[in-house]
Amino acid sequence: MRIATRFAPSPTGFLHIGGARTALFNWLFARKNNGRFILRVEDTDEQRSTPEMTQAIIDAMEWLGLDCDEGPYFQSLRKDMYLSYIERLVEKGNAYFCNCSPDEVEAMREQARQKGLKPKYNGKCREKGLSRSHETVVRIKAPISGQTLFNDQVKGPISFNNQELDDFVIQRKDKTPTYNLAVVVDDIEMGITHILRGDDHVNNTPKQLHIYQALEIDPPIFGHVPMILGPDKKKLSKRHGALSVMAYKEMGFLPEAMINYLVRLGWSFKDEEIFSREDLIQKFTLENLGSSACVFDMDKLTWLNSHYIKETDPERLSIILKDHIHFEKPEMTYLEKIIPLLQPRAGTMKEMAEMSDFFLLPDNSLKYDQKAVNKFITEETRTHLKNILERLENVESFDQKGLEQELADYIQQENIKFKVIAQPLRVAITGKTASPGLFETMEVLGRERVLNRLNIALQLQR
Ligand code: GLU
Repeated sequence: MRIATRFAPSPTGFLHIGGARTALFNWLFARKNNGRFILRVEDTDEQRSTPEMTQAIIDAMEWLGLDCDEGPYFQSLRKDMYLSYIERLVEKGNAYFCNCSPDEVEAMREQARQKGLKPKYNGKCREKGLSRSHETVVRIKAPISGQTLFNDQVKGPISFNNQELDDFVIQRKDKTPTYNLAVVVDDIEMGITHILRGDDHVNNTPKQLHIYQALEIDPPIFGHVPMILGPDKKKLSKRHGALSVMAYKEMGFLPEAMINYLVRLGWSFKDEEIFSREDLIQKFTLENLGSSACVFDMDKLTWLNSHYIKETDPERLSIILKDHIHFEKPEMTYLEKIIPLLQPRAGTMKEMAEMSDFFLLPDNSLKYDQKAVNKFITEETRTHLKNILERLENVESFDQKGLEQELADYIQQENIKFKVIAQPLRVAITGKTASPGLFETMEVLGRERVLNRLNIALQLQR
């Protein structure tokens, strides 16, 4: 059978880190096995689901490059299908109508609690043979004794005592199907073979298995991945920083860094850390999914991001960088020259944008660090800067090599060390004491900017 996986978000919020990881695992497993990857929007909670959130989830998946082969399907548009399955279950005698009031059911649950058992419905209407009325819900006829077992692909064999489970509701009084019923019907209809999801769903699995059993259909294979924790080992939450995947885009992370980072939250391959998308498709197996909780580590994500920033060609980075620049948009060709100087230094594209400020600001709005000016633009260095300015007006090739030669000549003529002029020159043309290499910076800035800035710096007051 052709492998099929799905990602089934509820559009009640943005795509968060945990959801993206689930989507990624399912996507990888499908791609690895030449299978299908399906997007299913679980929008049955009509109060809390919004089209904007659905779109935001789709956008985030697109940004991560998690393309789907089918969907999005919407549960809200598939109600008739759920009803037909419910009818089938009732006809088979594997589900039944129940007219117990909520108070009665609560009393049963309380009774069970008092006996030290898990709260549950006691099966009062199970054999009554009631017909449908506006007072009835539909309940599944679950096994009363024995165990429900499944072999979790991540956690190993898991068993539930059937005595602890009950004949849960699959259709409410208002005829709407319940969550577990809709999930099972969709997974059957979509031919899902493998379900990878967060382990907050482990307790739904025996219920879903009871529905498969009642329908006499073989269930898919399940794997429940562990939670993601914050650095304090508590469940990852807003307190720990951004949860939404797109917030990481805003912060200047590249999608390939995000993918590489997310996959390592629960999956490993030898002691390798860096995985391209193609690598992952080739290497991904369920066996390598780990069962212990993983900790979200911003430093590691940033480390991976700086790796991918170094690897990515400037032309593509320039398009991303442009979105992080909030003043007048620069020429792409100029950006592409700036980027190679910043690639070795930037942890995020936002940081790169900050670092590129001095390249992009108009000469007369360049911000000078006053402390640096006080320290380096002194009487003595002003004289040097003036001399250098004259030389730079005339230097033939305004590139690294030409500039290096020109300044070497100058320090030799003056009999000074390079360091006497290096920082003053840097402060004069960048406004600050830290920048990429002086000559490469000057080459990229170009003669006009460098000369303008030297002139401006010479007017600065200490
Ligand atoms: N809609 C569920 C969620 O967002 C996922 C259900 C499933 O994967 O079975 O948590």
